[in-house]
Amino acid sequence: MSHTGEFELIERIRSRFFGSLEDGGSPSDSDIDAGVRQLADGMVGIGDDCAVLPQTSGLDTLVTTDLLIEDRHFLLSDVTPEQLGWKSAAVNISDIAAMGGRPTGSFLSIAIPKRLSPEWIERFVAGFRDLSGRFSVPLLGGDTSASPDKLFINVTLLGECRKGSELLRSSALPGDLICVTGPLGDAAAGLKLILERAESAGGCAGRAASGAEQTLIRRHYCPMPRVAEGMALAAIPGVHAAMDISDGIASDLRHILKASRVRARVDLSAVPLSPEMREICALRAWDALELAVGGGEDYELLFTVAPDSLEQVRAALGGRVYPVGEILTENESAAGGVADIEWEGGSHADYQGFTHF
Ligand code: ADP
Ligand code: MG
Repeated sequence: MSHTGEFELIERIRSRFFGSLEDGGSPSDSDIDAGVRQLADGMVGIGDDCAVLPQTSGLDTLVTTDLLIEDRHFLLSDVTPEQLGWKSAAVNISDIAAMGGRPTGSFLSIAIPKRLSPEWIERFVAGFRDLSGRFSVPLLGGDTSASPDKLFINVTLLGECRKGSELLRSSALPGDLICVTGPLGDAAAGLKLILERAESAGGCAGRAASGAEQTLIRRHYCPMPRVAEGMALAAIPGVHAAMDISDGIASDLRHILKASRVRARVDLSAVPLSPEMREICALRAWDALELAVGGGEDYELLFTVAPDSLEQVRAALGGRVYPVGEILTENESAAGGVADIEWEGGSHADYQGFTHF
């Protein structure tokens, strides 16, 4: 399924509950119970990195869930159980970070094919626990089943955020600077290296990876969710919209633009690239910008901030702030149509995102 296919399907699912975007959100089926249509005050549902459930305590509860499927999101021949466990926790904790929240607990459901031993599962859980422990996230439950064929992993993460201070995709304003919290493209370059090495040497058993290669491969398998950065951003009123970069900014920025009904300009020469990424791309003649903009799974945060709050953000994030563009005027057509990005400072006219779902 293409990316567009995924988003269209999610919209079809959403519209069965809430009606289509075109008819202003009123459901066409008159017999649907109104109770499933109406979100309570302050609730945020489908369409952001997490759902938001308001509590009476002055905090909001955040919930997110993700599905990882063998041979679709990972190849068991290339990944260690520990790495897969880490990544399963990381992609969900990252969605909590993207809202500016603190992760509070996880649920892990797995459907396990017979060929995987209990030891394999223990090692998977060790990796899951390794990352969870860094953010003090206890495992609170889940479900376990045999699988006829492939390994399925579903993680649900709970988090919390000060009431109303979530960083939504829909809050970007014209004039905002667009920033990211770290170098982009490392994970995509890492994936290329993993696939290249699997092809040439029958797995990771071939020529030892160089230091730079190891770094990029690790960034692919073991991304670090930007929890502290997200929480710091949520505390600064001038920070408006945010999301995590799972599909590449070419695709992910469009989600912010669509939700906020704005357009953007991105300066490709300002996109941060790590030294390791530069080194490997120069050696292999890979297009570093293509990987940085179109490649996914970096799990850095993408956010927009009013220009006069940039210094406050720099101080709070200890330098992990890279302005890459700005939000332009409002775009009335964005609800149903294309959310435009003007690319500057590079040779490519357009970039698309990465498809890994
Ligand atoms: P992310 O990359 O941040 O995990 P996704 O692109 O997977 O986000 O999902 C986009 C939005 O659609 C999220 O709000 C998610 O909860 C929602 N969503 C995805 N699949 C479904 C589904 N089958 N039913 C309801 N909501 C869904
Ligand atoms: Mg996300």
